[in-house]
Amino acid sequence: MDMLIGGKHISSEDLVDVENPYTGEVIDTVPIAHRQTAQLAIDAANDAKESLVVMSAFKISNKLLNAVAKLEERREEFAQLLCQEVGKPINEALVEVDRSIETLRLSAEEAKRIYGESVPLDAGLNGKGFFAFTQRLPLGVVAAITPFNYPLNLTIHKIAPAIACKNTVIVKPPTEAPLSVMKFCELLDEEFPDGVVNVVTGYGSEIGDYLVCSSEVDKISFTGSVTTGMMISQKAGMKKVTLELGGNDPVIILKDADLDKAVKGIINGAFLNAGQVCMGVKRLIVEDCVADELGKKLVEATEKLIMGNPSDSKTTLGTLISEKAAMQVEETVNNAVSEGAKILTGGVREGAFYSATVIDNVTPDMDLVVRETFGPVAPIIRVHDLDEAIEVANATEYGLQAGVFTADYAAAMRCAQEIEAGTVFVNKQSTFRTDNMPFGGFKNSGVGKEGIKYAVDEMTKTKLIGLNLR
Ligand code: NAD
Repeated sequence: MDMLIGGKHISSEDLVDVENPYTGEVIDTVPIAHRQTAQLAIDAANDAKESLVVMSAFKISNKLLNAVAKLEERREEFAQLLCQEVGKPINEALVEVDRSIETLRLSAEEAKRIYGESVPLDAGLNGKGFFAFTQRLPLGVVAAITPFNYPLNLTIHKIAPAIACKNTVIVKPPTEAPLSVMKFCELLDEEFPDGVVNVVTGYGSEIGDYLVCSSEVDKISFTGSVTTGMMISQKAGMKKVTLELGGNDPVIILKDADLDKAVKGIINGAFLNAGQVCMGVKRLIVEDCVADELGKKLVEATEKLIMGNPSDSKTTLGTLISEKAAMQVEETVNNAVSEGAKILTGGVREGAFYSATVIDNVTPDMDLVVRETFGPVAPIIRVHDLDEAIEVANATEYGLQAGVFTADYAAAMRCAQEIEAGTVFVNKQSTFRTDNMPFGGFKNSGVGKEGIKYAVDEMTKTKLIGLNLR
């Protein structure tokens, strides 16, 4: 597939294969762009700015709704592509497309709500006699740099609000899974003037870095790992940056929890998308007295998952993004075992598959739970009481989301108030998001928020206009 720059299809002599991690087959190739090509995209996005600024909010909203209709029509096609390039089960791919549609629709609605406010300057010394109001203005060019795990929806979470508030966009999709995003950008390009949406493919270290350092890009909206996010924050200079980074989400299960409900939530949270979810359940912090029973129920439920061909509708556990990624998970789990952890079920790798794994007797100092393990692993850390549970939950550099299962509302409120995370759910796993909610972590999990209204806030600048009436 070609890149899209200023409405034109652009290729390159250097190409990179996009492989299906399940079959190992090459699905397609995409260009490896170099800096000159990234500059062409920057020029095209800057040239197109005016075309959006003069477009009415009504028209932008309708164009986004046209894109909604087109994506709805092609739901199956996009889901098949996601299933092939990521290795995720087809039913999960369909959900990703549905959420993408929802994200676009919410953005179309938000396009009509880019409000300012009147400001009573007379509340300040010397402010008498003014009428003042604010306007929210686009930043200009937004670069959207995105990861492989939910390539379509996470990219639309950037492109759609950016356009809703009249920014042009340059997308740098993930190298491993760029195709669904590229197809979507072509669909969006049919609606908007050339250059409003541009796509450059290639390596993040070259293209991503060039966009981050360019003085002609006004905002970096990045989703990906903490390591890359930190590099971006050091290089971005004065431009605005939103960083949606990794997570190591805890779920606390207290002695009075509804264990069946907790198990249902954990199965979803730890094994969805083969555990490759930023807000996936990555640490189970369990009160000792219920840990055996929870472990038993969890094993039973885990063993019902069906690992296999992602395009088979019965499959509930697909591959990881690559064999290399699966090998990393295997190594981390094996290291934990050698340090005293005990596998209750799973722990087997076959190519890019890693079986759904429940592992007990994990201690908070094991690498498995110190770093973000991006695979289908549910590690059980046993604790004595609520105080220790909260302490362990917070003993991490991450702070994306968290969950607590309990029938005790005082304990739930303590977790909600004391856990250092962007979101805390009570009687729900951390792995839950609606596309309108403010989403973004504390600590090293990120800077800024997404969720359409919140993304728009971060993609606009506020101007005050004051009329001296005296
Ligand atoms: P990654 O950081 O390796 O890559 C993300 C994107 O950054 C890719 O497009 C990549 O090409 C690009 N990139 C790489 N080096 C770059 C550089 N030097 N400058 C600019 N761009 C560069 O992440 P990944 O492996 O694709 O994704 C997995 C990570 O993303 C996990 O840590 C996961 O938790 C996180 N994630 C976070 C969220 C969230 O919303 N908080 C959502 C999904 C995934």
